Amino acid sequence: MPELLYPLDSSKKFTDQQIVGHNRWHPDIPAAVTVKPGDTFRAHCREWFDGAIHNDDSAEDILNAPLDGVHVLSGPFAIEGAEPGDLLIVDILDVGPIPQEDSGPLAGQGWGYTGIFAKQNGGGFLTDQFPDAYKAIWDFSGQSATSRHVPHVKYTGIVHPGLMGTAPSPELLGKWNAREAALIATDPQRVPPLALPPQPKDAILGTLTGAEFDRVASEAARTAPPRENGGNQDIKNLTKGTRVFYPVFVPGAKLSFGDLHFSQGDGEITFCGAIEMGGFMDLHVDLIKGGMDTYGVTENAIFMPGNTDPQYSEWIAFSGTSVTLDGEQRYLDSDLSYQRACLHAIDYLTKFGYSPEQAYLLLGSAPIEGRLSGVVDIPNSCATVYIPTAIFDFPVAPSKDGPTTIDPGMGAPTASF
Ligand code: ZN
Repeated sequence: MPELLYPLDSSKKFTDQQIVGHNRWHPDIPAAVTVKPGDTFRAHCREWFDGAIHNDDSAEDILNAPLDGVHVLSGPFAIEGAEPGDLLIVDILDVGPIPQEDSGPLAGQGWGYTGIFAKQNGGGFLTDQFPDAYKAIWDFSGQSATSRHVPHVKYTGIVHPGLMGTAPSPELLGKWNAREAALIATDPQRVPPLALPPQPKDAILGTLTGAEFDRVASEAARTAPPRENGGNQDIKNLTKGTRVFYPVFVPGAKLSFGDLHFSQGDGEITFCGAIEMGGFMDLHVDLIKGGMDTYGVTENAIFMPGNTDPQYSEWIAFSGTSVTLDGEQRYLDSDLSYQRACLHAIDYLTKFGYSPEQAYLLLGSAPIEGRLSGVVDIPNSCATVYIPTAIFDFPVAPSKDGPTTIDPGMGAPTASF
């Protein structure tokens, strides 16, 4: 096992740990650990809500999920010699749930969760159709996940970090804050909001205290969106074996990561759509000096995915075009096309006995493939969503005999304001 440089004690809150991480992006959050190019190390990661979500049959915790406190990140890791303009090579040598024999109270200890967030608390990709909170607990058995809340499916995990990135420079952070504030100003009362401005409440900033803490907390960017530094990209293919090349914007690069997922479908559509968990990552880091210019990677990481994805070869796929549910034609709106494809898949799965919410939770968390199949055929873009047929324990293809009816069990727990 590589040396454990960032330990987390499962019995303690994130802020009570030996090394305190952070939940905002800012160049002045001090490095928690320093490593050298060529080093290999292990780090623990807390699940993104630091234990607020429980393994039970209620969705009250999802309804009231404390969004100001996310994402709790491990780091920053300073890489000796890294300078702005370099490319930081990060190899994901291994990634997995909290190594433990028995299931415990924290997500990652043999279980994980998927949530549909209420429209008044974050929402999700289909929040107009699903305004209330729902939850599914998934139990891990080796590489597989099953759920008492979404029965008759079992699938192989595609374990990855939802979030990983380098710290922004002061200039880059200024750009983020300006452009996101301008977007928010176009409709400041919107529910859910268009973007999240800096929020000092519940900010965790490593070892910072006092006036420096207050200054950084008032400027630091939230971790929800992906940005030029990588960040919350939620790319399900950042699996074991992946090599990522991150742009370096500050001395030391200041790499941070977290939001581990046991599995996720493309789009992470329920917002908390992956199977969220805590766990560990084994990383190897190195530098390409001046690599940002050499390779034209001045912003947004590039990566070479690992080859440990689940081996599914048969699929049932659904398509959608950029026409609203009310029949309004939109121009090449691929987000809308993907929504329509997902709604199409959900409608289909309800014919077998699932509730719409069970089907939505399934699409967020199973290793589905989402594709922009056509983006040029005016006025309709075409998006498609592919579900592996082998995850179901019943025949899921259309046939002359009609759909097999399943027992949907207790269903997904729900809660509303
Ligand atoms: Zn996540």
